[in-house]
Amino acid sequence: MNYKEFSQEKLDNLIHIQDLFKKKFDIDGYENWFYDSESELLRLYNSDEDEIYFRYIPVGSYSQNKQTWMWSWFNENSIEKSKEKVLAVKEFGAKNQYEKLLEGTFTSDKFDAWEFTSICLDFLNGIGAYKVDSNDLDKFMVIMAVEDIDSKDVQLLKQKTVECVQHGYSRPAFVCQHLDCKTARGFQEAFDTYKGMELEEDDDFQAWCDECEKVRIEHGEWNEESESFAQIQLICENCYFELKEFNQKSN
Ligand SMILES: [Zn+2]
Ligand SMILES: [Zn+2]
Repeated sequence: MNYKEFSQEKLDNLIHIQDLFKKKFDIDGYENWFYDSESELLRLYNSDEDEIYFRYIPVGSYSQNKQTWMWSWFNENSIEKSKEKVLAVKEFGAKNQYEKLLEGTFTSDKFDAWEFTSICLDFLNGIGAYKVDSNDLDKFMVIMAVEDIDSKDVQLLKQKTVECVQHGYSRPAFVCQHLDCKTARGFQEAFDTYKGMELEEDDDFQAWCDECEKVRIEHGEWNEESESFAQIQLICENCYFELKEFNQKSN
């Protein structure tokens, strides 16, 4: 079987499953979504009372601007642990020499993205598929199961997150007022960080610019004056690492 036949078969299967999935959970009845990469939960909701949670596995993302596909296993920004399960599809691709299943990222289109999702759905035994789009990026997921609203993971998720217009719900992070993605101003951190890292209970992501660092050293510590210069703000974890990548370059 060539790739075209293979993927068409999976796509037909997805259409059938997706139909049942949408009807059973009234998927189109929810106006909003957010997902949390750390707990690997997708929330669909209209209000705090009208909501449903699903466990998902990330398939990959499609950039409309660049018209490229990137598999989740290739994407360093994908912190979901379950993305490793998608490697089974890659291995299958290697055996059958289906190049699109093998390469981490390449020029592509939306049809490809749905084909990949349908292949993963089949391999992973999902109950449905979902696509979220933030900015120009479409993220494709296989839905594995409904998550009980009273589950520990859902409760934790609600407690620990901030809502970001760009990224949905993520962990909170704190930065000085001067940091943006226009001018690199240095990135001083309370401790070394990387995206998705586990944090101790008392730790937060915290960063400030070189100017703030000067003021802090002048005062010997964070005090009223150095803090009022910094004007620390609350942002989301994803925004934090975008700032880090950009501002670090000046060091
Ligand atoms: Zn600053
Ligand atoms: Zn954000």
